[in-house]
Amino acid sequence: MKLVQAMSRLGTETAFNVLARAKQLEAEGRDVIHLEIGEPDFDTPRNIIEAARQALLDGYTHYTPAPGIPRLRQVIAEHVAQTRGIPVAPENVVVVPGGKPIIFYSLLALVDAGDEVIMPNPAFPIYESMVRFVGATPVFVRLREEEGFGFDLDMLADSITDRTRMVILNSPSNPTGGVLDKRQIETIAALLRPREEIMVLSDEIYSRILYDGTHYSIASEPDMQDRTIILDGYSKTYAMTGWRLGYGVMNQRLAEAITQLQINAVSCVNAAAQVAGIEGLTGPQDDVTRMVAAFRERRDRIVGGLNQLPGIRCVMPQGAFYAFPNVSALPVDEGTLARRLLDEMGVALLAGTAFGEYGRGYLRLSYANSVPNIERALERMADFLARL
Ligand code: PLP
Repeated sequence: MKLVQAMSRLGTETAFNVLARAKQLEAEGRDVIHLEIGEPDFDTPRNIIEAARQALLDGYTHYTPAPGIPRLRQVIAEHVAQTRGIPVAPENVVVVPGGKPIIFYSLLALVDAGDEVIMPNPAFPIYESMVRFVGATPVFVRLREEEGFGFDLDMLADSITDRTRMVILNSPSNPTGGVLDKRQIETIAALLRPREEIMVLSDEIYSRILYDGTHYSIASEPDMQDRTIILDGYSKTYAMTGWRLGYGVMNQRLAEAITQLQINAVSCVNAAAQVAGIEGLTGPQDDVTRMVAAFRERRDRIVGGLNQLPGIRCVMPQGAFYAFPNVSALPVDEGTLARRLLDEMGVALLAGTAFGEYGRGYLRLSYANSVPNIERALERMADFLARL
C-alpha cells in the first residue's frame, strides 16, 4: 500500500502521544500526574448533559442540516454578536465537530499549494501540520517571553509577502497562555487592512478562559469581520472535549463552502450534542465562572511553584490553562526533561518544541488538574532537579 505524498507532510499533536505513554505506564501500575493534555478535568455541567439526554428521548437521533440546527446557529450568532460587538446572522455560523475542523476546513477552502500562511510559533501544532498538508508554506512569527508571549509585530510586518494568503491568530494562546490585547490587535488589523486578499483565522477557543480584562477579537476591527474566520467552541469553556462540538463564524460565501466540505466529510454534528449546545449558551453560566475561578487558583499555585524551582522561570499566563516555563538554564534540554520527568517521576508534561522551534528551552504544563495534584507534581519536579 502506498499513502499519498501529502500524508508525509501531515504532523500530529504530541499531547496525544504523551498521553498514550502515560496511560501505558499507569497500566503497568505507575502513578502518573497528568499535566500533558489540554482538557478541563471538570465534568460537563449537569444542565447540558440533561439537555442531551432529553434530546435523544425526543427523537434527535437523525441527520440535522449540515451547517447545524437552525436554533443553535441562531444562539451562536447572538452569542458571538454580543461578545465581539459585531453583527452576526445564523448564515454566518457553521457548527462543526469540535474547534479543530474549522482549521482543517478553512485551510482546504482558502489555501492553495505554494501559498504562505503566517502563524505564531510556538503554537497549536495542527496549524503547521495542516498548512503543510495542503502544500502551503508556514511562516512563523515568534512569540517572545519578554513581551508576555505577544506577537512580534515587526516580525509580522516583515513576514507579509505577495504569497501570503492567511494569518492565524490564537488568543488566549496555547501553549503560552499569552493574550493579544486590543492595542496589538489594532496594530495587526492596520497591517492587514490594505491587503484585502489575506484572510485571518482567529482561534478564540480560549476566549472565555481569561484572567484579566476582556477578550478582543480582530473581527471587531473596522473592515476585518468579512475577512476573519472566528474559531470557537464548547470543548474548553464547558468541559466538553469528548462531545465534539465547535463552530466557525465567517462570511456567508465561505460558510457555504465550508458547509459543502462538511457534507463531504461528516454530514453534520451529532444531533443531541447540538441540542445540548443550545442549553450551554442559553442556560446558567455559573459553572463556567466556577471553572475559570478554579483555573485561576491553579495558575497562581503552579506558576508560583515553578518560579521557586532552581533554573526555572515562568511568566504569569493571562488566559487558557497552560504554564510555559523557561527551562533553558537547566543542564538538560526540554525534550530530555519531559521524557525523564515522565519515566522517572511520573509527571506527564510536554516539551516546548512540541509547539514549534521557538518552543526550544520551554516546557508546557496544563494546569487543568487539581491543586493537590499540582502540588505533588511540583514536589516531584523539585526532587528530580535536586538530583540533576
Ligand atoms: N485550538 C486550540 C488553540 C486548541 O488548543 C485546541 C485544543 O486543544 C483546539 C483548537 C481544538 O479544540 P477541539 O477539541 O474543540 O477540537
